[in-house]
Amino acid sequence: MREFGIRPSKRLGQHFLIDEAPLKAMLDAADLNETDGVMEIGPGLGVLTLELSRRARKVVAVEKDPALIPVLEKLTKSYKNICLLNEDVLKLDIEKLAREHFGGKFKVVANLPYYITSPIIMKIINNRHLIEMAVIMIQKEVAERLTAKPGSRDYGILSIAVQLYAEVDFVCHVASSAFLPPPKVDSAVVRLRLKDFPSVPLEDERLFFRVVEAAFGERRKTVKNSLKSRLSLSPDKVEEALKRAGIDSTRRAETLKIEEFALLAREIAKILTCN
Ligand code: SAM
Repeated sequence: MREFGIRPSKRLGQHFLIDEAPLKAMLDAADLNETDGVMEIGPGLGVLTLELSRRARKVVAVEKDPALIPVLEKLTKSYKNICLLNEDVLKLDIEKLAREHFGGKFKVVANLPYYITSPIIMKIINNRHLIEMAVIMIQKEVAERLTAKPGSRDYGILSIAVQLYAEVDFVCHVASSAFLPPPKVDSAVVRLRLKDFPSVPLEDERLFFRVVEAAFGERRKTVKNSLKSRLSLSPDKVEEALKRAGIDSTRRAETLKIEEFALLAREIAKILTCN
């Protein structure tokens, strides 16, 4: 940083990893071999990039900050399998990237910029037909939401959206002292192994997520009351759908398993088509 006169940008979530243990844990979790293509989001000063390059066939490192590009170019000069892209990952065309750089599926390994953790995770999930696995460093709180089971305080829409399409493994906790400058929150590494098909069969994915969002809309209310106010269905129709799905109407959304949401969405679909 001193050599290039770099001052970490808060706005871009720049916290550079200075501890080897989490780096090693990420590399082990990614289980890389010489046939793998890897996309790294936010290479920063390249600590992870160089290690990925030693293990994988090809690394595409996507960095938004133009000030870091000359640093990365210098550091990676003798690594012929690294391609640097000065782009915003949220605007990146993943289909094109897969086609042009990897010729098929690839892995994501990244210490994420925390201000855009959720949109990046959703982009990974939405491109699951191209992404085999993602090993990501994120805020500890988000890691807890991704791995949360029904009945837990952390269980919500993000848990369901991710667990529907990925096996989620908690890899390790990372203290804020592992970064320079240290972030305000603790971190964790999680691994998502993406699936082509949802863990629970869905007839209508859009309706499923409308039901999940409506149910979690008012966390303190029972699922019956949340659905009533947010899906514009009459109380007796909601009651009927819950009954047919075998769900007690006094339960709260955070106690419902993904399978139960799927059953409920199916019953609501039937009621909506009858109306
Ligand atoms: N990989 C480095 C490390 O582990 O030390 C840096 C990680 S730092 C937490 C996040 C990185 O993401 C920064 O380099 C930042 O500039 C970059 N970044 C921020 N927003 C981005 C975006 N929209 N697209 C791509 N990279 C971004």
